[in-house]
Amino acid sequence: MNIPDIQSPSVASSFDVQRIRASFPNLHREVHGNPLVYLDNAATAQKPQLVIDRLNRYYSRENSNVHRGVHTLSQEATDAYEGARERIRAFINASSNHEVIYTRGTTEAINLVASTFGRKHLSAGDEILISTMEHHSNIVPWQMLCEEKGATLRVIPISKAGEIEYDAFLSMLSERTKIVAICHISNTLGTINPLDRMIADAHRYGATVVVDGAQAVPHMRVDVQALDVDFYCFSSHKMFGPTGIGILYGKESLLEAMPPYQGGGDMIDTVSFEKTTYNTLPHKFEAGTPHIAGGIGLGAAVEYMESIGLETIAEYERDLLAYGTEQLRSIEGVRIIGTASQKASVLSFLIGDIHPYDTGTILDRLGIAVRTGHHCTQPLMDHWGLPGTARASLAFYNTREDIDALVAGIRKVKTFFE
Ligand code: PLP
Repeated sequence: MNIPDIQSPSVASSFDVQRIRASFPNLHREVHGNPLVYLDNAATAQKPQLVIDRLNRYYSRENSNVHRGVHTLSQEATDAYEGARERIRAFINASSNHEVIYTRGTTEAINLVASTFGRKHLSAGDEILISTMEHHSNIVPWQMLCEEKGATLRVIPISKAGEIEYDAFLSMLSERTKIVAICHISNTLGTINPLDRMIADAHRYGATVVVDGAQAVPHMRVDVQALDVDFYCFSSHKMFGPTGIGILYGKESLLEAMPPYQGGGDMIDTVSFEKTTYNTLPHKFEAGTPHIAGGIGLGAAVEYMESIGLETIAEYERDLLAYGTEQLRSIEGVRIIGTASQKASVLSFLIGDIHPYDTGTILDRLGIAVRTGHHCTQPLMDHWGLPGTARASLAFYNTREDIDALVAGIRKVKTFFE
């Protein structure tokens, strides 16, 4: 496919954090009279000018509906939208565009799999395995499915460090296991789960593996073929693209055999009052006018990330996380929640018995944006008896100076409670 040229005013050719920061306009504002220190990337990431400009260009120059028109604008919009799909396919190394389904995000992607694949293949007595560290988006759809089907949801335990108890996982696998649904990286702990092993072990029992990749794709190279994963879900807004759009990757053979998710325009081949036949992949799962600008914007975000290099991003962030971990550990009374040996981009912490909400509020007055609370992992918090945590989550535009500001902020928080 011919990928339309995207104007790239600020694509970084090599990693230079100040140059990269210059591409993100929102990083340069002030909050409460202080320069913004944005450390809430696990919730959503800031957008580079390239993505903002691409959205602007679509709405100001190309706006038209896709797939249905013979006129020039419609063809341009379709080329841009499908060109973005091709970029995303290459980004995750899917073998075909048929395997790249646009959704509203990770949550919808998981719900799609639960509602179609899950409904078709699950029966009473079957089991779904998830882990203690899952986001609500990777718990509730499976709970709903189990309730409907009389199946059982089983929870893989984790260690104190926040790692999968691997032997327990192995002992839970059986012929009854139909689905293993697991996050690639925990949004609360930063744990990188051993997907290679987990997928291979689940497959030995014939289970299908659904991965919540929301926190992985912005930080590391993901190769769905190398992983041999069955379904992989992620959100554009966490990877520097627009909100309201994301991806479900699925193996073509699985997607082919699944019933459609929603009915309507675009997902059909022919419609009569007697019978409807469905469109080919990927359109079978994309009913209605899609988030066209979102898809195109996500394509631009992928282009931006590739221009830096996923390996470079991962290496830079590893160094930043090590620095942040060391700095936070040096503050008396600070406890890091989540100390897995394989970890990425997340520093969840508590300061003595100060409520995380107070921590977050005081840090905000200093211009430092962290997230506080249960981070949509309420069962994990309950498991450890925690009220929540304060969470600093990093992206490649963060710096050691941001960490230093956080450390100074934490010291300031402490003074309020002395
Ligand atoms: N899974 C994980 C691990 C997440 O961190 C999030 C968002 O915070 C989600 C799923 C849900 O993503 P979205 O709200 O974009 O659908």
